[in-house]
Amino acid sequence: MTLADLAEWYVLGGLCSRCAHKGWIDRWEIARRFGRRTIIVTLLPKLRCTACGNDRGNTLRTGRIKR
Ligand SMILES: [Zn+2]
Repeated sequence: MTLADLAEWYVLGGLCSRCAHKGWIDRWEIARRFGRRTIIVTLLPKLRCTACGNDRGNTLRTGRIKR
């Protein structure tokens, strides 16, 4: 699945494997930087926890924007 395949009302979030910190990712910023055709799982090694700095074993999740 690529960023372009993800419906507009979904947001991406990251979950840290070390401290369980959850953060939301700006998918539009990622699309600008890496391209809309970026396959989402290839972003996993680029994830870095904003709480503890861990960049290993983190996972992605999706959520719906509440309106
Ligand atoms: Zn962390």
